[in-house]
Amino acid sequence: MSEHDQDYDYDLFVIGAGSGGTRAARIAAGYGARVAVAEERFLGGTCVNVGCIPKKLFVYASHFAEDFEDAAGFGWRGPAAAAPGGGSGLAAFDWPTLVANKDREIERLNGIYRGLIEGAGARLFDARATIVGPHAISVDGSTVSARHILVATGGEPTLPDIPGIEHAIRSDDVFYLERLPQRLIVVGGGYIAVELAGVFAGLGVEVTQLYRGPLFLRGFDDDIRRGLAEEMRKRGVALRFDTNVAAIERVANGGSGGGGGGVRARLAAGGGRGGPAGVSGPGGETGTVDADLILYATGRHPNTAGLGLQNAGVATAPNGAVLVDAWSRSNVEHIWAVGDVTDRINLTPVAIREGHCFAETVFNDNPISPDHEDVPTAVFSQPAIGTCGLTEAEAGDRYPEVDVYVSTFRPLKHTLTGRDQRSVMKLLVDAATDRVVGCHLLDPDAAEIVQGVGIAMKCGATKAQFDRTMAIHPTAAEEIVTMRTPSRRLRREEAASTEVA
Ligand code: FAD
Ligand code: NDP
Repeated sequence: MSEHDQDYDYDLFVIGAGSGGTRAARIAAGYGARVAVAEERFLGGTCVNVGCIPKKLFVYASHFAEDFEDAAGFGWRGPAAAAPGGGSGLAAFDWPTLVANKDREIERLNGIYRGLIEGAGARLFDARATIVGPHAISVDGSTVSARHILVATGGEPTLPDIPGIEHAIRSDDVFYLERLPQRLIVVGGGYIAVELAGVFAGLGVEVTQLYRGPLFLRGFDDDIRRGLAEEMRKRGVALRFDTNVAAIERVANGGSGGGGGGVRARLAAGGGRGGPAGVSGPGGETGTVDADLILYATGRHPNTAGLGLQNAGVATAPNGAVLVDAWSRSNVEHIWAVGDVTDRINLTPVAIREGHCFAETVFNDNPISPDHEDVPTAVFSQPAIGTCGLTEAEAGDRYPEVDVYVSTFRPLKHTLTGRDQRSVMKLLVDAATDRVVGCHLLDPDAAEIVQGVGIAMKCGATKAQFDRTMAIHPTAAEEIVTMRTPSRRLRREEAASTEVA
């Protein structure tokens, strides 16, 4: 339906110009709706400013030391290649240059987002908005009305309440550090913690990663979790599992980054949830770790504090998430929410799809709901993880019999570099239907590979169809269509005894 109710200033007021809000505003305006958007901090939201984009640029930056080292095996000579493990001479790294170049690119993207919103005919308020009544929004010193309100305010880092937590930095801060620390503690074992631990280790920082459970990346496939832990250790990240931080202190001489002193983390036993079968923690480490900086990457929560949702009677979950139905509609008929603020699957493409579906549904009389099944995702760790569908533990719970195909190999490139790196490729197949129900990859190219596998899985592809697909040689991806013999068959009774972390 196309909504034009002159009783309201706008047909749609979008709060938050991140991934979800911007897409919704553009599409709705394209259907002729009178749209306003409020953004209090940065156009493009988390992904563009302190998330996917700067993170991926930093990941690229952190790969060069390894690439320079590897070049020697291919005959390259020079100060950088001649210093395996060192990365010196021509390979000197300048952090301020990286940050400045990144800032320039982000500024360009901010401009593109402004252009997208205003070019679509929407009114953009560079200001915070709050809901002051069922159809009323306070923004930029005035109150405006809208027939529909879309809450797209994203999420914020969550920090535990421990003594000295004010000395910790959050992932947002990482992108604006003036100096590269020499020693960094990373607390957490999710996407952000493993990605940023890898980034800083690649840039030559001495990284200690503390995770409260027996093995990080809870919820990912166990073979991949174990494989990544091994690879990160080989790259010099000191992984300490079953370990948490009881308190943080500032110390005058703990830091080595020059000026400002450092931090000391007092360790405590982890207290995390269980790990996969066969992984038992050491029972928790105590003692202290000193560093220049301590980064907390211990999850994020929906950004709804002070938003005024109660003024319109919008129901939220205990963590502040706006509760929505499959069409992203809240309990209040004309108030909707998309993206991280709903805490469904907190990824940029998901927020964008939710925003698009919302606009189609409300402003084009074309009700479509986002498909949250088999969402492919990547962790930009080193090597990267690509994953789609069920983990082995989940598949074992859901299906009576599951064939597990696993291939572990050394990438061709490293036959000449001598680097001890292993890739893991894994497919899970429901034995009854032959459908591929899970794909898990650990490989430098995993993120690129899994996008295509995601399409096949969306189409319900069977293992026989994977097998009929011609391989591309020589690639890592060809393993996906050449694994002929299952490594094992999982039967439900066995799966039930496997502890799912
Ligand atoms: P956001 O993009 O967070 O946008 C919300 C916007 O609302 C913000 O700009 C905020 O300033 C604004 N806002 C909030 N309250 C108000 C208010 N009251 N008034 C006005 N404006 C307001 N996802 C991936 O898919 N791939 C990745 O590689 C990836 N990497 C990530 C790395 C990091 C370090 C982080 C933190 C996240 C990463 N994500 C990644 C997740 C991704 O960034 C989010 O899922 C995505 O940005 C969510 O989009 P959104 O529209 O819901 O919210
Ligand atoms: P995650 O939820 O992925 O991980 C949080 C981590 O912090 C977990 O290891 C958790 O442990 C741990 N933790 C939680 N509370 C505490 C505590 N009190 N003390 C110690 N440890 C704690 O959150 P992230 O912050 O890493 O990322 C947020 C979301 O952003 C991701 O889930 C993802 O949706 C998105 N994202 C996506 C990326 C991508 O697509 N590549 C990259 C970065 C972020 P436990 O497991 O024991 O609960």
